[in-house]
Amino acid sequence: MSLDYVKFSNGFEKFMPKEYRDMVEHGPFGKKVSVSQMGSFKEVLEEHPMCAGCAMTLFIRLAMIAFPNPEDTITVGTAGCGRLAISQAAIPFVYGNYGDQNGVASGLSRGLRLRFGDKPKDVVVMAGDGGTADIGFQQVLHSWFRRERFTTIMLDNEVYGNTGGQESGMTNRGAVLKMAPLGKKFEKMDMVQMAKVAGCAYVATVVPNNPRRVESVIKKAVLIAREVGSSYIQAYTSCNIEYAIPTDKVMEDAKTVENDRYAFSEYITDEAKQYLTERYGYKEYLPKPGAPAAAIPGKA
Ligand code: SF4
Repeated sequence: MSLDYVKFSNGFEKFMPKEYRDMVEHGPFGKKVSVSQMGSFKEVLEEHPMCAGCAMTLFIRLAMIAFPNPEDTITVGTAGCGRLAISQAAIPFVYGNYGDQNGVASGLSRGLRLRFGDKPKDVVVMAGDGGTADIGFQQVLHSWFRRERFTTIMLDNEVYGNTGGQESGMTNRGAVLKMAPLGKKFEKMDMVQMAKVAGCAYVATVVPNNPRRVESVIKKAVLIAREVGSSYIQAYTSCNIEYAIPTDKVMEDAKTVENDRYAFSEYITDEAKQYLTERYGYKEYLPKPGAPAAAIPGKA
């Protein structure tokens, strides 16, 4: 694999903007970086237009640090708050329209395999709960049934935050929102169970409070999707605006929610476990009970 496309063409360095030079010289491309090194390298996502304190932004930032090959990763998203940050990152982003992100990712993933063969070109869908469980649900489920080899990450803020507070399929029963004043009458969708039934090789639920755990599940999900099959991560990324969570309480809320109804969970098929064991020493990276997961170093 060549890193030439994230380097300067001869003679052009002095004409490039400082941000670009910083990214080439101090970014994560071609290096093994970890969330424990945050602050010591230029991240692929630094500036964004999201609300102050939005937990979704922290999660996206951690996820992007965790990508095993950021220089060879393409993200796909759809309408929603998350794409405002994802599209600012220094990696290619494809904007799928209104829920077609898993269809777009299917074609992209297959095309990249045809074009580049065995070179790892990871495709990662990052979309909100509305885009994943409601508007894009059909394409999400079918991509899983087809075992498409890319990772789907749901940024689950349990509301349509981008459009002012409608309930989504992932909103909890009884929740009262600005545009759902009578309270939701139905249960939150069990997308984790659906992902397992539909054949995902790896499924995990996380909150952003534990950076090393986020890093661990993202690396596993992307590596498994690269060669084994679909992987799914569901992340609690609260909307502090629509749920009126004070900015300085966002992490406290996430901790409470994790203890209450969003516990860390991890499901992995035997085939995926064998692949990780043989290629990456999977057992070493299994989180110990009560301890944060260690990061998986290296890449294929
Ligand atoms: S509306 Fe909610 S989810 Fe969207 S950026 Fe603001 S806090 Fe985050």
